[in-house]
This record gives sequence, C-alpha cells and structure tokens, in this order.
Amino acid sequence: MSADIVVIGGGPVGLAAALYAVRSGLAPVILEPRAGSIDKACGEGLMPGGLQALTELGVDPPGHDLRGIRYLARGRAVEADFSAGPGRGVRRTTLHGALGEAVAAVGVEVLPFGAAEVTQDGATVTVRTDDCGRAGPTLTAPWVVAADGLHSPTRRSLGLDRDHAAVRRLPVGSRRSARTAESRPLRRYGLRQHYGIRPWGDHVEVHWGPHGEAYVTPVADDLVGVAVLSRQRNPLSDGLAQFPALRERLGGAPVVTSVLGAGPLRQRTTHRVAGRVLLAGDASGYVDALTGEGISLGLAHARLAVAAVVAGDPQSYERSWRAATRRYSLLTHALVQATRPAWGRRLLVPAAATLPPVFRGAVNELASPS
Ligand SMILES: Cc1cc2nc3c(=O)[nH]c(=O)nc-3n(C[C@H](O)[C@H](O)[C@H](O)COP(=O)(O)OP(=O)(O)OC[C@H]3O[C@@H](n4cnc5c(N)ncnc54)[C@H](O)[C@@H]3O)c2cc1C
Repeated sequence: MSADIVVIGGGPVGLAAALYAVRSGLAPVILEPRAGSIDKACGEGLMPGGLQALTELGVDPPGHDLRGIRYLARGRAVEADFSAGPGRGVRRTTLHGALGEAVAAVGVEVLPFGAAEVTQDGATVTVRTDDCGRAGPTLTAPWVVAADGLHSPTRRSLGLDRDHAAVRRLPVGSRRSARTAESRPLRRYGLRQHYGIRPWGDHVEVHWGPHGEAYVTPVADDLVGVAVLSRQRNPLSDGLAQFPALRERLGGAPVVTSVLGAGPLRQRTTHRVAGRVLLAGDASGYVDALTGEGISLGLAHARLAVAAVVAGDPQSYERSWRAATRRYSLLTHALVQATRPAWGRRLLVPAAATLPPVFRGAVNELASPS
C-alpha cells in the first residue's frame, strides 16, 4: 500500500497531523492498533491555544469551559485567568471521538495495525505493520510522521531516544553512574480517575502536596477528573491521602472510571527528524504533565511537521519544533526543579500569591498558541 504520508499513532496528535496533511493536499494513512475512542491517563485540560488549533481544524468537542488555573496549598490559593479566551476540559474519549469523526469525514483511512519496523532510503519510507504478532500490510510513502506517544517505539528504533542512547554509552563505574539521587533526572508518574460530581469551579485546580500534585479538571457538567503527579508509584488512593481538602470536596462522589497511569513522564530526544521520519507530540519528547500543555503543543507539532513535509524540507522541522517547544520546556522544567526540594513545594503557592503578575504571566505564556 502507498500513501503521501504515513502517520504512526492515532492519538490526538496523529489524527491532527492527518487533518493538516489533507488540508495541504496530501493523502495520509494512519496506523493505530487500538480500536474505538481511546482513553488515556491525562489531566484533560485543553489550554486556549490548543482549543483554538482544534477549532481551526473544524473540531469542537464538548466539555467544560476553563477560565484559568488555580494553585492551592495548605489553605492558601492563587489563581490566574487566561487572557486569550477560555480553555476547555474535555474527556479524552470525547476528544478522540471528535477528531476521529473529522478524519473519517475527509476520507482518511485508519488501519488497525501497529508499526513494527520503519526503514528508509533516500526517497521512500517503508513501514512494516503487525497486529499482535500477525503480519499486516507493508506501507510505503515519501514521509512518515510518528506520533506514537510517550514511549514511542519509532523514536527508539531510529535511535532518537536520548536517555536510552546515553545509558547505552555509559561505561560501568563512570562518574555519571555515581551521581547522587538528588542530581539524577527526576522520574515522575501520573495517575488519573473521574468522579461523578458537579464541578465546583471553572479553573483547573493544582493542589500542591508534600510529595506530589493533584490536578483537578472539570470535564462535563457532572464530571471532574483528578490526576495525581508524583515521584512515587503508589496507588491513587495513597496519592490522594496527601490532599485532605480535595478529598473532602470530592466527598462521597462516585468514582466513574478506572485508574489509568503513565510514566516516567520525562522523555528526551536527540533529534526530532531522522531522514524522512518526523516525530510529533509526546513521541518527540516530553517534560512533565504539570503545566497541562501536552495536547496543545502536540497539535502545534502536527501542523509544523506537515508544513516541513509540504516544503520538502524536513530539517526545517527541527527549528520550528524547537521554537514551538522552548517556552513550554523551560517553564515546565523550571517549575519541576523548583518544587523538587520540600521547601520549594512549601514556598511556591505563597510566592505566587505575593507576585500575582508573575504567576499570571507564567500561566498565560503556557496558555497561548505555540
Ligand atoms: C497524568 C497526565 C496528565 C496530563 N494532563 C494533560 C492536560 O491536562 N492537558 C494536556 O494538554 N495534556 C496533558 N497530558 C499530556 C497529554 O496526555 C499528551 O501530551 C497527549 O496525549 C499526547 O498525544 P499523542 O497523540 O502525542 O500521544 P498519545 O495520546 O499517547 O497517542 C499515541 C498513540 O500511538 C499509538 N501507538 C503506539 N505505538 C504504536 C505503533 N507501534 N504503531 C501505531 N500506533 C502506535 C497508541 O496506541 C496511541 O493511540 C497529561 C499527561 C499525563 C500522563
């Protein structure tokens, strides 16, 4: 089978990449082994920039309008409203359904196979596919956009995984292997679950606890999502125990979804382009879920990757990817590092409350379109 572009991964970024490709006159094919409206561990807050990108693609998933971000800790709260219009809390299954309908409406085929092997020469990329070990069709195309998620098999197979490559190169007993626990890259994980309760506000709430954050997003008139981010890989109920005020707020609300998790969140890449294969979304690298930017940023990657393909200049994507990602990377990394020590976590909310323009500035830097 052949196409103008093969998109590996039918998550929000892969589906958006296919829509951008169609708009540019290309015929894409999507590979996605999972059927139906795909759920995933996610805080489900679409920042205003991401919502705007979806609207421009003609995708308008229902949800709950988000006015801004509120940080809470030990009885104190500080909030900042988005200046670029509202964001939206949207269930992942709803978002996936809306993007899937848009893709179907323009006639793009989603093949129910995973990419098993990606090889290329100077003009063509060949993607061998499979379905649980059973061989599927082999696809050829001049270009591939790989949007196959946080643990992207394509990224790893092409040697673009920075941490994996670094570990392989590290000689036994080297100085780096003797680093202290504090200086090692932070491994954080996320868990999420939904509660059948009427949202009590229009902000995404980030509750700061001693060992993690609980990230509360209203996603419908009767549904609130709670994601806990932490270094610890404990059950969600243990993670929630450090947020008594939030637990009280949730009261006896029914739990309506099962727990989903993801991590380690931080994934670094050496490059985003290998020949004719371009990485987009989480596959292209990820810092942390703390600032709720993943989908918005991934949509920008999808647009920029397709623009580079259309220009026949894949290397231009390295530059545009860096420009789009820099602001998010710096702010998120700085926030994760600043709140690594216990004193940093204790001081963050009082400091933000003392300097509202700084907090507002940071929130709006992250919320604006990439
Ligand atoms: C706890 C948590 C909270 C978060 N909160 C937010 C938030 O509030 N707002 C926000 O914007 N972002 C948030 N994020 C980030 C957001 O979820 C991701 O950035 C987003 O899902 C990235 O989309 P994607 O399409 O790149 O990857 P994914 O959504 O992971 O999709 C990748 C797809 O690729 C498919 N795939 C995998 N391997 C193959 C293969 N070999 N062949 C074909 N297909 C394959 C998978 O089945 C999957 O469907 C959060 C993340 C976490 C973990």
